[in-house]
Amino acid sequence: MPQSYAFFQGKFMPLSEAKIGVMTHALHYGTAIFEGIRGNWNPEQKQTYLFRPREHYERMHRGCQVMKLDIPYTAEKMCDITVELVAKCAFEEDIYIRPLAYKSSESLYVRLHDLDSDFLVFVIPWGPYIKVDKAKCGVSSWRRPNDDMIPPQAKITGIYANSALAKTEAHDNGFHETIMLCQSGYVSEGSGENIFLVIDDKLVTPATYSSILMGITRDTVIKLAKNELGMDVVERPVDRSELYVAKEAFMTGTAANITAVTEIDHRKVGDGEVGEITRKLQNLYSSVIRGRNPKYMEWCTPVYKR
Ligand code: PMP
Repeated sequence: MPQSYAFFQGKFMPLSEAKIGVMTHALHYGTAIFEGIRGNWNPEQKQTYLFRPREHYERMHRGCQVMKLDIPYTAEKMCDITVELVAKCAFEEDIYIRPLAYKSSESLYVRLHDLDSDFLVFVIPWGPYIKVDKAKCGVSSWRRPNDDMIPPQAKITGIYANSALAKTEAHDNGFHETIMLCQSGYVSEGSGENIFLVIDDKLVTPATYSSILMGITRDTVIKLAKNELGMDVVERPVDRSELYVAKEAFMTGTAANITAVTEIDHRKVGDGEVGEITRKLQNLYSSVIRGRNPKYMEWCTPVYKR
């Protein structure tokens, strides 16, 4: 029977057995770095492909550097642990992998120094994060913090209180997802996704200085749009009102994949349907992540050795 497993305190165990104490530092102060990695099931090959796991663990290591988390595993070792873990679970469906590097000391001191660190990772079956094909979004009254407040380029668990406030505000206002602005008032990103617009047949997306996480799906989409669709991709400050006049809009993320945004602040994006460029990128992306495109196999790590 397929089952969720965790790698916790240096050992593999059923997920239900992996528990932390109530005084764990990271639980109280958000002093952890997490990642989200997808395992995509390919039924014809009876194979699960992990999508760009090395890039996820390299980003995790950069976050650990910021948060003074001392983890004894290289990105390569973390990939090996993850492959072994996913194979143990034996799910025959799309899965989500959640690695966490965290301040594990049972201590109430608010600080980063003189605290132990640990690394865990677990696997759960998980389908699409945004459960609609055509997402309605609202611009949030909550803004993304600047890098000198809490760095958005690191996936620090504590910063997700900001995402959660914005996501629930959007939900309570009848939207599927939120779009946050940065401190300078330009478009930043969603609660767990980057955003792209199609303007004058170019792909436009906010850059790092707009307080975004440099998404791995974002990077994948930029490469696919340039290489496969021959599009110009522009990273620049994006005005809020450009959201209202773009021809197409979509969000990208490991959990969300590529989700079309068809309405923003009660205004239709384009004709309110999934746009042509969005559709092309969705099709390309879904074949690439399932190991169906020979050109991009270096992004796919097979779990089962056959
Ligand atoms: N922005 C935020 C705030 C996120 O949490 C995520 C999800 N990791 C993304 C963007 C998309 O990043 P990625 O494509 O690497 O999953």
